[in-house]
Amino acid sequence: MQQATVSARPSGRWSQMALWKKILIGMILGVIAGITLGPDAEVLKPIGTLFINAIKMLIVPLVFCSLVVGVTSMQDTRKMGRIGIKSVVLYLGTTAVAISIGLGLATLLTPGLGLDMAITEAAPAAKEAPTLVQTLLNLIPKNPISALAAGNILQIIVFALGLGIALTLCGEKAEPAIRVFESLAEGMYKLTELVMKLAPYGVFGLMAWVSGKYGLEILMPLIKVIAVAYIGCLLHVVVFYSGLISIVGRLSPVRYLKGLINPAAVAFTTTSSSGTLPATIKASREELGVSKGISSFVLPLGATINMDGTALYQGVCALFIAQAFGIDLAFSDYLLIIMTSTLASIGTAGVPGAGLIMLSLVLTTVGLPMEGLAIVAGIDRILDMARTSVNVCGDLMVSVLVAKSENELDESIYNAEATVSEKEAELA
Ligand code: ASP
Repeated sequence: MQQATVSARPSGRWSQMALWKKILIGMILGVIAGITLGPDAEVLKPIGTLFINAIKMLIVPLVFCSLVVGVTSMQDTRKMGRIGIKSVVLYLGTTAVAISIGLGLATLLTPGLGLDMAITEAAPAAKEAPTLVQTLLNLIPKNPISALAAGNILQIIVFALGLGIALTLCGEKAEPAIRVFESLAEGMYKLTELVMKLAPYGVFGLMAWVSGKYGLEILMPLIKVIAVAYIGCLLHVVVFYSGLISIVGRLSPVRYLKGLINPAAVAFTTTSSSGTLPATIKASREELGVSKGISSFVLPLGATINMDGTALYQGVCALFIAQAFGIDLAFSDYLLIIMTSTLASIGTAGVPGAGLIMLSLVLTTVGLPMEGLAIVAGIDRILDMARTSVNVCGDLMVSVLVAKSENELDESIYNAEATVSEKEAELA
């Protein structure tokens, strides 16, 4: 009966379909429309431009509110003192490494080379590379309101972090202001959700335009982007995290890799590190022997501020877009990307697709065209699966290292021959 109703109303089926499936359909239909119409498909481009403008509209308020809230949610960090500082340093440090791996691999494997896409929006002004000192001095907005109005992302990030820290230090007196930011951030997340409903249509319009202009040549580079991002994610977990576990933690990396399988699988399928949190906490306690105290503090913090996979993906995509549009990035641009992406990870929500919005921020900071965003949006789900798994593996790695340094790691559990889930499987 239910079935009959649903099949009688195809639009009902469309509205119930998961967003990523709709985006994928939008992308496929866009490619078909583009190939069929050829250069005439440009008439469909305004649909894409509408979507891009809507995303641009979100950037400043979203980043500002979510960063302030990201910092104030670390209130406990102050209480937890040493553990908090250790975790935040590890989280941000590993994020900077992740994005460097992404940038390095994309430079080496050049997924966007030869695409020769033309920039149709105002070309980023030919920039003289600012010196490092200039870049650092420019981080502090002399006037935060004009930074907000001009959309100077790095300055906005710095101001938001400062305000967040100050509000946290004020304690009770700042609670009303914190609640205002929390509520504004919720509103911005909702608005993001609404704007993302336009994504399938926007992706359709832009893919039609791009493939009408460049033909099927566009598909191969997208497959390359996926390959580069997956290689980077694997390297980051298997080489970098395992390396830290064995060198810094003096623990078996194999046991770490075995322990992360369950939460990584949940993250891969749900693409939400917040949604995976229960599985991450269970694994860190039962498979890796992290104490309750450490895991219940370090892991929720990680699900909020630690996004190594997302940062790595942003590095790959930013360079892909620069290569596709033939834009040369200066060394200072690379530093800007690392800085923006690392700081922005604090404000990235652990929900599906959040990294895509944050990519728009990285692109804006270095003046890369936003059209590139809609092109990678078509494959975002596939990339999100890998990056969310890495986000979660990073949280687990930090929980193990912090627990070990605080003598709160039960090594008899960590080194147990059979993991708890293996024992459970045997009993079943
Ligand atoms: N889906 C990711 C997460 O939940 C965030 C992102 O979109 O990069 O960790």
